[in-house]
Amino acid sequence: MKNIPEIENLVKLISKLPGLGPKSARRIILKLINNRNELIKPMIDSLTDIFKNISRCQLCGTLKSSLSECNNCGNSNKKYNKICVVENIADQWSIESSSIYQGYFHILGGTISNSNINRKEDLLIDSLVKRVTKDKIEEVIIATSATVEGQTTAFYIQDKLKDTNVTITKLAQGLPVGGEIENLDDGTLVSAFKNRHGLNGRKD
Ligand SMILES: [Zn+2]
Repeated sequence: MKNIPEIENLVKLISKLPGLGPKSARRIILKLINNRNELIKPMIDSLTDIFKNISRCQLCGTLKSSLSECNNCGNSNKKYNKICVVENIADQWSIESSSIYQGYFHILGGTISNSNINRKEDLLIDSLVKRVTKDKIEEVIIATSATVEGQTTAFYIQDKLKDTNVTITKLAQGLPVGGEIENLDDGTLVSAFKNRHGLNGRKD
């Protein structure tokens, strides 16, 4: 399959995806070509829909379809008094699957010193402050990674929330240094939640 420009172009693109190199890209492409009607055509339609309709919710940062309300912050009959702040959607999925937490989520979409996203407004922190006030939130749980960037971001959020009355907590140590939330096992995550501590003197 080498030296066919159409295929080489797609190999380059697929190799940019997480966990995939040129070898797996070629296997994927071969499978696609051998199933062009069942796979390629529907995939083109599906990618077109995603490109057109899916974007970040400007309120909570999660992904949403322009055709429906946001699952995180709209459309919910349940009202909560907690918001858990995470770096990305995979972190939210990990926390949800551990069942330790019932509440809203706020997805930053990065960290402050992350070289890709260093524009603070992209992290929707102003929107977080608005949500805290509007939804009568009592506790903001900061669940950023135990990395330098994650901690810098946590301090920045804490500072931005200082004029609200909200209790700010952070997941307990016990997160391995450098640990990213999405890679933690359920046990570690549950204990980090249970032992979260206050950052602004409102919780032990
Ligand atoms: Zn939302």
